[in-house]
Amino acid sequence: MSDPLAAIRRFLDRHPLPTPCLVIDVDAVRERYRALSTAFTAAGGARVYFAVKACPEPAVLAALAAEGASFDVASPGEIDLCLRQGAAPAALSYGNPIKKASAIAYAHSAGVREFVCDAESDLDNLARHAPGAEVSVRLLLDAPDSVTPFGAKFGCEPEVAVGLLTRAAELGLDPVGLSFHVGSQQLDVKAWDLAIGTAARVASAAGTPLRRLNLGGGYATPYRGSAPALAEYSSQAASSLRTHFGANAPELLIEPGRALVAEAGMIRTEVVLVAQRRAADPRRWVYLDIGRYNGLAETENEAIAYRVERAGGVRDEPAGPVVLAGPTCDGDDVLYQHTPYRLPLSLRPGDQLDIPGAGAYTASYSSVAFNGIEPLRTYCISGGRWIDESARSAP
Ligand SMILES: *Cc1c(COP(=O)(O)O)cnc(C)c1O
Repeated sequence: MSDPLAAIRRFLDRHPLPTPCLVIDVDAVRERYRALSTAFTAAGGARVYFAVKACPEPAVLAALAAEGASFDVASPGEIDLCLRQGAAPAALSYGNPIKKASAIAYAHSAGVREFVCDAESDLDNLARHAPGAEVSVRLLLDAPDSVTPFGAKFGCEPEVAVGLLTRAAELGLDPVGLSFHVGSQQLDVKAWDLAIGTAARVASAAGTPLRRLNLGGGYATPYRGSAPALAEYSSQAASSLRTHFGANAPELLIEPGRALVAEAGMIRTEVVLVAQRRAADPRRWVYLDIGRYNGLAETENEAIAYRVERAGGVRDEPAGPVVLAGPTCDGDDVLYQHTPYRLPLSLRPGDQLDIPGAGAYTASYSSVAFNGIEPLRTYCISGGRWIDESARSAP
């Protein structure tokens, strides 16, 4: 894979932008999409649905649509966004099991035919507002904890899933299959074996061969630590399908978010203040112009530990321990106080830092105006140049 970090840093050298900013190398997203599409060949191939919430940047969606990607959408807003960027309605799957009847009707009128469901009242709404739609039932799993687990918010127990599949057919819907999500940033590839085994049991209890299996997202990306290679996820899927489905393997879907865009993006931020707080604590507090509310929401509970380094890359200079915090007046806007971080001793207000691997779940999580701070500005580049949205012709 080309080096998006180097491309982004060269771009920022030529165009010093106000901080904080997120720069996304769309060429890297494209490469990653191709890698994900081919990675699952060993498992019989998989259609790739990009989970839009990870990075709803128009230029990213347009590039993926041009590559032939499909999209996992969660709201009328995400449907419109994808359609405007050239995605066909048939390439959209409404993957959010929590939806209003009006949202279902809107999706149906926009041409969306594929929905995920995990409860009876939602199924009734689908029958009423999206007659004949393809429905996948989402399973609740006891998957090993991921870095950012979904808990028990989504999915139904296997027995309930069997009932929903049967009921979907009675309601004139097309019960195409099952789906699950083993938790985001899932470092344990065995999580998929458990999920695929559960899906096979549900399919056999339902008494119909499973046509489609949605393996969800969760494929991890390296932050400060390492992550399994795509090949490890796909060979796990291939062997689990053999074990649990034998010769009757269903068509596969995957819904990567993080794994598609994280490494394609880098945030540049500026140091606002460096201060020593308690005499007994040798750590300096380093306050940045980015925090929990303008892009780094995933530092909640210090779940995601991003790399943080001097702009341009790590240099050989003396460093010491720090606590990292954001710029707002909120006491929870502290990024890392338990996870050890070290930064150069010479660090001063006005110095810039880089946060690589920040293309996923950053800009899309930033608030509109907490403390008057604007949402994270995002710039997409291709071939080392800024993709000027206003210059692109309207569809
Ligand atoms: C968020 C989400 C994804 C993407 O998850 P990643 O961990 O970013 O790969 C996929 N599917 C559904 C239904 C989601 O809600």
